[in-house]
Amino acid sequence: MIARDGANISLWQNTAEPFIPTRNLSADQTYDVVIAGGGITGVSTALLLQQAGLRCVLIEAHTLCFGTTGGTTAHLNTLLDTPYTTIAKNFDEEKAALVARAARESINTVQANIARYQIDCNFEEATGFLFSQNEKQTQELEEIRKATMEAGVFVSYTDGIPLPIQFEKALEIKNQAKFHPVRYVMALAKAYEEAGGTIVQNCRVMDTDNTDPLVVKTEAGDVRASWLIYTTHIPPGVNLLHLRCAPYRSYAMAVRLTDDKYPAGLTYDMYDPYHYYRTQVIDGEQYLIIGGEDHKTAHADNTMMPFTKLESHIRSNFNNVKEIAYRWSSQYFEPADGLPYIGHLPGQPGKILVATGFGGNGITYSTVAARTLTDIVLNKENPNIQLFNPNRLKPIAGFTNFVKENVDVAKQLITGFFTKEKIHALADIAPGEGKVVHVEGHIIALYKDEAGELHSLNPRCTHLKCTVSWSLAEKCWECPCHGARYDFNGKVLTGPADMDLQKIKL
Ligand SMILES: Cc1cc2nc3c(=O)[nH]c(=O)nc-3n(C[C@H](O)[C@H](O)[C@H](O)COP(=O)(O)OP(=O)(O)OC[C@H]3O[C@@H](n4cnc5c(N)ncnc54)[C@H](O)[C@@H]3O)c2cc1C
Repeated sequence: MIARDGANISLWQNTAEPFIPTRNLSADQTYDVVIAGGGITGVSTALLLQQAGLRCVLIEAHTLCFGTTGGTTAHLNTLLDTPYTTIAKNFDEEKAALVARAARESINTVQANIARYQIDCNFEEATGFLFSQNEKQTQELEEIRKATMEAGVFVSYTDGIPLPIQFEKALEIKNQAKFHPVRYVMALAKAYEEAGGTIVQNCRVMDTDNTDPLVVKTEAGDVRASWLIYTTHIPPGVNLLHLRCAPYRSYAMAVRLTDDKYPAGLTYDMYDPYHYYRTQVIDGEQYLIIGGEDHKTAHADNTMMPFTKLESHIRSNFNNVKEIAYRWSSQYFEPADGLPYIGHLPGQPGKILVATGFGGNGITYSTVAARTLTDIVLNKENPNIQLFNPNRLKPIAGFTNFVKENVDVAKQLITGFFTKEKIHALADIAPGEGKVVHVEGHIIALYKDEAGELHSLNPRCTHLKCTVSWSLAEKCWECPCHGARYDFNGKVLTGPADMDLQKIKL
């Protein structure tokens, strides 16, 4: 089983083999490119750059697919979460057509890679369906249909959807796809190593000196490189992009049915947040994968509730549920203007690149990012370089800042010592639960393990000092501002933080 940044086990984690690299990082080495982050974006980018003849090292803080790639649902779409209506409005129709083309090329590239490297990842083409359930949604559906056609993607109304759910109107769109994302990434990683690339796991990229070549600081020492690419899902440090990307959690379940009536296709309702449905065959076993109940990270009072709602949604619509085989949640970053940020990291010298803000389409956009980033490094022309430029100035009307909680720097630094008895008395916490408690004018993040032992931390996120809160669903601390996540012991699970939470002595 591969490791993931949450306590729940995803379908992909449990059905893929971990990647065992054959080489280590030698500090003081010089590379052409350091790629930080070993999800689908990092591995796809590293492979392209290595194949172009550059000397690359991919450095992953944990193990490959530890991040959202291990917790996705892996629909490959040209019908994207940001509808073409919004893209045309926020940018223009020509750019909407470019986005559609990029998404199409991405699916084609994934399919070509699977054929080229003979990857066993159950890739299948599938028809997509988007359905409305009330008048307002039906109106919106028609607008989406028009804008999607104008962007060059053929969609048409259909009389039926593959789900046992009542609907008013539905659009169908051919040639979407689905696959096992982790098996795909592991196979690309192997191809990258065979092309001469190096993969280093369990090593965090910490920072870089703005020199030429760059000195990239990692937990295993410094390496020199002409380019540094952050494919870390969100870049570490403090950056403009943290104000332009909002962290969200989405919840998913893989269900076994009592019969073989697994609905074909990739299907979406139109609520906000919406539900998404698809099936996947893995080693002869079928699963119906359903997701939804998204909320901004650390903005839900009870993170078990989305699972409860999702299960009730499934059971009320499908009368043939045998068991919920897997349930998990994962994080994505919603961009301010609806398009991802791929290219030069804002505020940094020319040779630090980034790919982030994929929203719920990062499996599709990862391949777009890999090509775009590679073309920047190789100095090749590509219209997507301008389209997804992270330095674009595109403030949306009404949008000032995604950050809902102020990032006031913590004034209450924890200095004193507290007796366990006092904290036990104040903290009514069940085993396996965490809570932020107030003690004598200070705040402490407390977690009680299954044996009743308390683990105490300074709850100020090490990124920008917002106060973390406990996720009961994934058993970790989460920051409501920029989405950093930590395990019960304060160890970083998800950026942008790159330092652990400070431990408090009891
Ligand atoms: C529930 C859910 C369902 C989704 N479904 C779909 C879908 O159907 N279709 C779709 O297109 N998209 C989907 N998405 C979005 C998509 O899964 C993600 O956008 C995509 O997986 C992001 O891949 P990535 O490689 O950029 O990031 P990640 O997979 O998160 O990888 C980043 C890696 O960087 C590592 N890292 C972080 N910091 C450092 C550092 N400082 N140094 C070294 N390494 C570091 C992390 O450990 C991690 O392994 C979904 C998202 C969610 C949450």
